[in-house]
Amino acid sequence: MPELPEVETARRITESTLVGHALMRVDLRLPKVLRDSPIESTEPLLGATVIGARRRAKVLMVDFSNDLTWMIHLKLAGQWAVFTPDGQRYVAGHPVPSPTGDYPHKSTHATLTFDDGTLLYYSDIRQFGWWRIMPTADVQTSLEAFAHGPEATGELDAVTLGAVMARRGIPIKTLLLDQSFIAGLGNIYVDEVLWRVRVHPATPANAVSTVKRNAILREIPLVMAEGIRQGGAKIVHNVAYPVDGFPAVHGREGEPCLRCGTPIAKLRVGQRGTYICPKCQKETRA
Ligand SMILES: [Zn+2]
Repeated sequence: MPELPEVETARRITESTLVGHALMRVDLRLPKVLRDSPIESTEPLLGATVIGARRRAKVLMVDFSNDLTWMIHLKLAGQWAVFTPDGQRYVAGHPVPSPTGDYPHKSTHATLTFDDGTLLYYSDIRQFGWWRIMPTADVQTSLEAFAHGPEATGELDAVTLGAVMARRGIPIKTLLLDQSFIAGLGNIYVDEVLWRVRVHPATPANAVSTVKRNAILREIPLVMAEGIRQGGAKIVHNVAYPVDGFPAVHGREGEPCLRCGTPIAKLRVGQRGTYICPKCQKETRA
């Protein structure tokens, strides 16, 4: 958390509420968010109008009219909350601060004010998130340094990606979390994909059958689309609150499998808390 659907939700909120508005004021209380920023201050953004919001993998980019771009990574616990003058709230990312509570919260590190009175609150209880401000012309080069694989939201090339899977002996879950393999998948959605296709997350990637490999690649964009449709998975303090049966396994330890009723189990795969149905997802050895 936040994963691709949450970041895409933040992008959509930005597009619908901030585009066309000039940034008038930034109250930044955690200067270290700019630790790796080519431009070390938000000052150059003041007075400029937001002209677009883009996303690549889990990186959010806000483009300004003065040819500068504000790049944001929410990392483990970032939250993006926009309050518009008509009293509406639009919140994406981590569930803390509570979207219905008081802002700014003690973990709100920045408040941005736009010319129509719209407020953007950036919060991050873990403080791993970062901002980078740079000329828009430098964005592409900056993104290339991440070596992102294909977008998890798009159609995935089963031949190319399947060939990589067939060569790698690491757990399938670990491979799917590798952003250079497929960009945007995180812990919650990998668990969801593997439950849907009935593959144990510790199965070596090269021991997954061709049929299952293709099924995994087919399900990834479907799971992403469902996450985006819901504005992100509802998971608070590691407990899921599924909507329309989604997410089906992550954060549901001890709850019945939605397919067979077996209690969902929690284990660790590649250091990550992982949820499975022990009956639907049997481990396969290489
Ligand atoms: Zn099951």
